[in-house]
Amino acid sequence: MDIPEELREDEVLIKVKYASICGTDLHIYQWNEWAQNRIKTPQIGGHEFSGEVIKVGKNVKLVEVGDFVSAETHIPCTRCKMCRTGNMHICLNMEILGVDRDGIFAEYARVPEVVLWKNDPSLPQHMASVQEPLGNAVYTVTSGDVSGKSVLITGAGPIGVMAVQVAKALGAGPIIVSEVKDFRLDLAKKNGADYLVNPAVEDAYSKIMDITQHEGVDAVLEMSGNESAFNLGMKSVIPGGHISILGLFDKNVSLDINAGVFKNITMYGITGRKMFETWYKLSSLLNTKKIDLDKIITDVIPFENWQEGFDKMEEGKCGKVVLEI
Ligand SMILES: [Zn+2]
Ligand SMILES: [Zn+2]
Repeated sequence: MDIPEELREDEVLIKVKYASICGTDLHIYQWNEWAQNRIKTPQIGGHEFSGEVIKVGKNVKLVEVGDFVSAETHIPCTRCKMCRTGNMHICLNMEILGVDRDGIFAEYARVPEVVLWKNDPSLPQHMASVQEPLGNAVYTVTSGDVSGKSVLITGAGPIGVMAVQVAKALGAGPIIVSEVKDFRLDLAKKNGADYLVNPAVEDAYSKIMDITQHEGVDAVLEMSGNESAFNLGMKSVIPGGHISILGLFDKNVSLDINAGVFKNITMYGITGRKMFETWYKLSSLLNTKKIDLDKIITDVIPFENWQEGFDKMEEGKCGKVVLEI
């Protein structure tokens, strides 16, 4: 591939080393309704990466040539009300890397300085590409207090499994994971879940109540985007507890809102990662080895075989898939 010629003064050019595949990339690959409405072709996809800075625009001060970087994928305008009140992750004029502009499934990528994250040189580069989804897990887990508390994680896709490790590292317990796919239950177990429940084959609610001495869980982390999983969380949460929702639902769900009101629960919608508070937290967890991403990265595949990676994601028989470029 040719090296992109034009570089804006606030951008850097990166030689991409590793790129991981996100659920969003899979939706674009499958060209679902959301992708058809959102993506303007032709466009390069992908947003989770690590790589080396090989050129910097003239106003860039954060990094220099040779630095090993990754990036936040929500590109904020830095000027709107949200940006100016410490909420860049919910910028009113947000652009997303690999969704609204060219992404990083390429040898070279242009990325604006505002989203760059300088990696610790000791962090393995394949792990560095997975920090963005790890940030989703960290933001979800830290949206409420979990230390010394019981946690139910509904959905054990890669981010749900990361949340198991993060919750454990922050002192939560017991950690209960509900999931219907065997491969994912197994991965959750390997990543430190204390209890597994499979609503497809057992009475998940009774089991959760037994585990929590019939009190319910202090925190629910919704990672599935599945209506019945969400309602299991609503039913299982203890009065005064909280539910943090990262899962995206393809349709509206019906829920017993009065039960939530009478239980005095708090609900948090989670999107992206706090910039850059979440990045500092995840970096601390990674660099002090409280989190081991190699238990979640199940496949590292040469970029030429990208199709194999997407196929594995479609089958759901993988944790995180990383492409080596
Ligand atoms: Zn992602
Ligand atoms: Zn903004």
